[in-house]
Amino acid sequence: MTSEQPTGADGHATHAGSPFAPATQVVALGRPDRAPGAPLAVPPVFTSTYAADGPVNYARAGNPTWSALEDSVGPLEGGDALAFASGMAAVAAVLSLVPTGGTVVAPFAAYNGVVVSLTEAQEAGRLAVRWVDVTDAEAVEAALPGADLLWLESPTNPLLDLADVERLAQAGRAAGAVVAVDNTFATPLLQQPLALGADVSVHSATKYLSGHSDVILGMTITGTDERGRALRDRLARHRLLGGAIPGPMEAWLVLRGLRTLAVRLERACENAVELAARLREHPSVTRVRYPGLGAIVSVETVGGAEGAERVCAGTHLWSHSTSLGGVESQLERRRRQPGEPESTPVDLVRLSVGIEDVEDLWRDLDAALRLA
Ligand SMILES: *Cc1c(COP(=O)(O)O)cnc(C)c1O
Repeated sequence: MTSEQPTGADGHATHAGSPFAPATQVVALGRPDRAPGAPLAVPPVFTSTYAADGPVNYARAGNPTWSALEDSVGPLEGGDALAFASGMAAVAAVLSLVPTGGTVVAPFAAYNGVVVSLTEAQEAGRLAVRWVDVTDAEAVEAALPGADLLWLESPTNPLLDLADVERLAQAGRAAGAVVAVDNTFATPLLQQPLALGADVSVHSATKYLSGHSDVILGMTITGTDERGRALRDRLARHRLLGGAIPGPMEAWLVLRGLRTLAVRLERACENAVELAARLREHPSVTRVRYPGLGAIVSVETVGGAEGAERVCAGTHLWSHSTSLGGVESQLERRRRQPGEPESTPVDLVRLSVGIEDVEDLWRDLDAALRLA
């Protein structure tokens, strides 16, 4: 996790190579040049093509609004970012790095879209998957020989388990694998996978980076060294030929949301810490999972799956909906989703804690929990 990294005055990890703290970077990066009369903000550039002989030929290969977003996000994790049509498009680009017949080591308890993608690829005979518990570093290491890709997620969705990313990234690379970390839950402000030794960081920017539950977009971040640049080129080629590109409006929405990431996250994390503490004392809650960072809290409730469903149906302020990372608080019983791994308890309710007043959040949640 972040404990090995230097931290700035605000407690966030500092970012090598930039004179500015992350809270400044999210505001200041990716702006237009300050020529007299230039706009402060990059607009969404709607075009399918460009006048000949420029740096980019056609808008499936590049767009100025993507570039502004990529230039804003990459440095937060000390790398180069690419924007994709969705988090899953970014995942698919990373999985395309695995040769046909190759081997992936992946957590059995991970984002269900990743688990389902890997399961279906395995069933179709395209690749082999060795499923691991990412909290068991020795088991992960034992699975690595001959692997082409090590996929990590930390904290995991929705169990909020932590992996020792630094140890596993080193082991993965020593075994010759590409190491990818889904950093969606931690965000670039709380964890920088490349600094911990990973090759690729993956984000569903649909979540915290955009932060307003109004857009779907994904990103990859790769290193600036030769190995990182080679990976970036392969991911960019997959984007170009696979065609899973974000729209300019989507890129603009994420860029706009990113400007407030630091304040949104700070408030959401404060709320999550407070709610996690109160939930531990709640008579309807049998277990609280909160790893001490981020703004997702998972609880297990009394009354089994039905009790958990009653809680989700019983809130007025919290939105009963899938997804996470927005300014608005959301909750969901994860096992209602088809494809959710069986490692997720049937009575687990995932709380995505937003930035509302914490007392309002507590009153609504407390009342709903009493229906369990
Ligand atoms: C939502 C999510 C994804 C998928 O992202 P989309 O933007 O929905 O395609 C991947 N990983 C994690 C951890 C997520 O929460």
